[in-house]
Amino acid sequence: MRILIVEDEPKTGDYLKQGLAEAGFVVDLVRDGQGGLHQALTENYDLVVLDVMLPGIDGWAVLRGIHKAGKDTPVLFLTARDDVDDRVKGLELGADDYLVKPFAFSELLARVRTLLRRGTRTAAPEFLRTADLELDLMRRRVTRAGKRIDLTAKEFALLELLLRRQGEVLPRSLIASQVWDMNFDSDTNVIEVAMRRLRVKLDDNFEPKLIRTVRGMGYVLENPDCA
Ligand code: CA
Repeated sequence: MRILIVEDEPKTGDYLKQGLAEAGFVVDLVRDGQGGLHQALTENYDLVVLDVMLPGIDGWAVLRGIHKAGKDTPVLFLTARDDVDDRVKGLELGADDYLVKPFAFSELLARVRTLLRRGTRTAAPEFLRTADLELDLMRRRVTRAGKRIDLTAKEFALLELLLRRQGEVLPRSLIASQVWDMNFDSDTNVIEVAMRRLRVKLDDNFEPKLIRTVRGMGYVLENPDCA
């Protein structure tokens, strides 16, 4: 799941980005309104966390811009003032929810999860499964043959992507754009390293092997018994 944060206060932005990344989301942070709007329109995010008071164009203008472009990405806005007018304005402009600063991170995370569940307009699956592998999206847990497998946030995001697109060969560029943030350096081998670690945890002690490398093309996850 990809989240865009538009927030100019350096500490708040960094704190939100780090917290959401640790919670397993792929997070991009933009520190001004114009850049935030551009990013929201050129990439596909599952959610935008939008500060209202921004340099350049403010959060309201970003929100209008997103809707004007026909994007229905859910938006959670952050307002510094506990001002009824501000909250009403945001919701009237089509934001999905808001938080008044300062807020506890746990509160933000709870709102984010609720919006994401609502945001997937089709009934969201809570589990992704193949063979004896099960990924629990809400509790963020993975088991294989009933045994708990501990994954890092990145490994979890990688596995989620592979499971959502089972049977499809996913090129590195697609994996990079879905699992790593906009600062991803394509000259490094971080995808290979993460994939190797994931395969060790997922496939080394189990049969059948689920993840395959397709030389020169990318990676695929499929249950060979059903392929
Ligand atoms: Ca601000």
